[in-house]
Amino acid sequence: MLEKIRVVLVNTSHPGNIGGAARAMKNMGLSRLVLVDPQDFPSSEAVARASGAVDILDGAHIVGTLEEALVGCSLVLGTSARDRHIPWPLLDPRECATASLQQVEQGGEVALVFGREYAGLTNEELQRCQFHVHIPSDPEFSSLNLATAVQVLTYEVRMAWLAQQGQPTKMAKLETNGEQASLPVTADELELFYGHLESTLVQIGFHDPSNPRHLMSRLRRLYGRSNISKLEMNILRGILTETQKAARGEAHKRRDV
Ligand code: SAH
Repeated sequence: MLEKIRVVLVNTSHPGNIGGAARAMKNMGLSRLVLVDPQDFPSSEAVARASGAVDILDGAHIVGTLEEALVGCSLVLGTSARDRHIPWPLLDPRECATASLQQVEQGGEVALVFGREYAGLTNEELQRCQFHVHIPSDPEFSSLNLATAVQVLTYEVRMAWLAQQGQPTKMAKLETNGEQASLPVTADELELFYGHLESTLVQIGFHDPSNPRHLMSRLRRLYGRSNISKLEMNILRGILTETQKAARGEAHKRRDV
């Protein structure tokens, strides 16, 4: 799906930026890079900045004109750091990502077009784009580095794509006790815990069932807010068990956890 979205860099002067853009793309799962008349490419500086994304550089399609770069695209989005004279339909990066994925879903291909480091895209080039995309930077200092602008847009594409795939945007949990441990506790497990907690509190003299003063309700409310996992419940139950043993005066035997 993401292979239907190409990144087009127009007339880039610094090869390092081409490498940086390739790296940004690969990080976000995009692979198609098109270079329109790059000023200095191939180059060792591009390779150095690409860091492990040399495959994207090797696979880059080099063309002479923007027109050639856009062949096959049904949606063309041109990025711009500043306001242009002619008002044009404008999207922010998030809207750009949503529109791009929608287009791909409908069977189309998309181009995200980026301009020259010193001059951006010309008006003529911008007019080849259905939408303009502006990263809402500080108007006093609105121009991002080219590769950074590529990163922002491809990040938004990835976020939208992950959401569309129903995939998590957070890293898998690093629980060592396996998936089971991070599952939430069930109502019956919580009831057993509240019973254990109450008997422990009575045992250590903190809770007097003949004068309860809403203690257990308040504790239920507290734990109820906590979305406790099975692992955390085991810890709490362990603490209660050890507290009971200590209250009975049993020698404390530290378990290795
Ligand atoms: N002086 C140029 C800046 C070019 S920066 C100008 O005024 O247009 C190089 C490229 O990075 C731009 O052509 C655009 O593709 C991208 N870029 C930089 N800042 C951006 C921003 N705030 N929003 C969208 N794209 C941006």
